[in-house]
Amino acid sequence: MQMAHFSKTGIIATLGPASESAEMIREFIAHRVSTFRLNFSHGTFDSHQEVLERINQVRSEFSHSISVMGDLCGPKIRIGKIEPGTVLNDDQEVTIVVGNEAGNAEQFSTTYVDLIKDIESGQRILINDGQIILGVLSKTADAVCCKVLVGGPLSSHKGLNLPDTRLSTKAITEKDWRCVDWAIEHNLDYLALSFVQYADEIRTLKKYLAEKGSNIKVVPKIEKPLAVENIESIINVSDAVLIARGDLGVEMDLARVPLVQKQITALCRRLGKPVIVATQVLQSMIENASPTRAEASDVSNAVLDYADVLMLSGETAVGKYPVDAVKSLGHLSRTTESFLEARNEPRPRIDAGADLAGKAAAARNVAHLLDEVPAKLVVASIESPEIASLLGKARIDVPILALCADQHIARQISLNYGLISVYQPGRCESFHRWVADVDHVVLENRWADKGDKLLLMPPLSVLACNTTGAIMMHEIGK
Ligand code: PEP
Repeated sequence: MQMAHFSKTGIIATLGPASESAEMIREFIAHRVSTFRLNFSHGTFDSHQEVLERINQVRSEFSHSISVMGDLCGPKIRIGKIEPGTVLNDDQEVTIVVGNEAGNAEQFSTTYVDLIKDIESGQRILINDGQIILGVLSKTADAVCCKVLVGGPLSSHKGLNLPDTRLSTKAITEKDWRCVDWAIEHNLDYLALSFVQYADEIRTLKKYLAEKGSNIKVVPKIEKPLAVENIESIINVSDAVLIARGDLGVEMDLARVPLVQKQITALCRRLGKPVIVATQVLQSMIENASPTRAEASDVSNAVLDYADVLMLSGETAVGKYPVDAVKSLGHLSRTTESFLEARNEPRPRIDAGADLAGKAAAARNVAHLLDEVPAKLVVASIESPEIASLLGKARIDVPILALCADQHIARQISLNYGLISVYQPGRCESFHRWVADVDHVVLENRWADKGDKLLLMPPLSVLACNTTGAIMMHEIGK
């Protein structure tokens, strides 16, 4: 990846039929994609394995680390099979039953077994991303009677949302647990968890991963109103969060989604956790070679909100212009980042907790130091994901090259703002050796030139005195 293509805001690309080839994966990495999303809602373990093998082959060609996120479907509720040509008309009544039987405009089924237990009269049922809206009139022991508030064509297996209902279903389904085991076995870096409502659901997954000896990071998708209510406790137990604006915009008033995005990005900034903004980021590029004005504005606003990463879904999975979508996203992000850097805003404190307060202050000081003593890159030896997050949150004006001796952590920290991570195995004992290695990596990748200044944060193992860390200037080649 050339520096010219590096936006500090990261890019996650969802892989799908439009982008699963080695050539496409290589192009994405060259244009700043640092994380690939495998969506367990589609495909089989065999097909995911094939794609993962391709990612592994291509990422080994690059010096910097590339990560993989598995997206667990969670309790996505769907309707059953529907007779072709079925249309629900405004004001008509329709009955929903639990099961798999084929349906029509009088009655259809849903796979959600607790529907009747959970739903109450007066609540809304949304179908097909809210295209159809039903109001619940009454329920019996085995059926829910509804009035059609907004009608439309009804077709098989469309998604069903219950925005007013507390779901008793578990966030992690039987299928999800099989995907978790697969992710552990295949050493994925992150698991995104859909339809989370409570922090305990994340704790459950983390406990399971820990019991299995896995260090996969957990990223809840915020797409339920209850998750928004519980957001601070959810962020506190998570490794990062993903604002899933698709289902969120169905589950709550669409007008509130941009405000929820601002609330969550600000909270993640304060709590020092990476935040991903997702869905319809460059939606029109599924069909067109360039984004709309509104999409350009949305990307710019997400960068102004201090999102760490933006995620492409259909744009890269099934779109006609997957590489153009990645290039456009990088260009749009870089333009707003430059604007923010020129504005030179005060950097707010990060509430990282007592244990990390010193590191958080050091990260902020790196940012301040660079305002007065410019350098081409920060090069930091990173041992823990928390430190990488703090550097990301400090909004440092130049890219941060993170050198990490643990391959899995090197991949996982690639999700942070402004950070390029490189796996460097082995413990370095001498400061001169470490600096020589830094010069070599930087020059070999053409991330900077001879004579450029670097701001170094070396590993403690190479510092002679008994210290908690050091920040120093270095000129490449000297
Ligand atoms: C979303 O709903 O915004 C989202 C990212 O989830 P999915 O792509 O699984 O629908």
